[in-house]
Amino acid sequence: MVKIAVDHNLCTGCETCADTCPVAIFEIKDGKAVSVNAEECLVCRACEVQCPEGAIQVIE
Ligand code: SF4
Ligand code: SF4
Repeated sequence: MVKIAVDHNLCTGCETCADTCPVAIFEIKDGKAVSVNAEECLVCRACEVQCPEGAIQVIE
């Protein structure tokens, strides 16, 4: 089971993760990214790499 942790103290709601993720894990709610279907995650770690704030951790 993969857990997607988004630090909402760091997240600016830039939507980069939503645009980057190949399986649409992220939605932006109230200006912050949330993971809506983490079980679909491919653990490609593109979101971790692309987030300009370093707000995302993909935890296996
Ligand atoms: S890429 Fe990072 S800062 Fe931008 S919305 Fe996603 S988690 Fe937030
Ligand atoms: S690791 Fe890849 S598949 Fe998983 S949430 Fe991040 S971008 Fe999406």
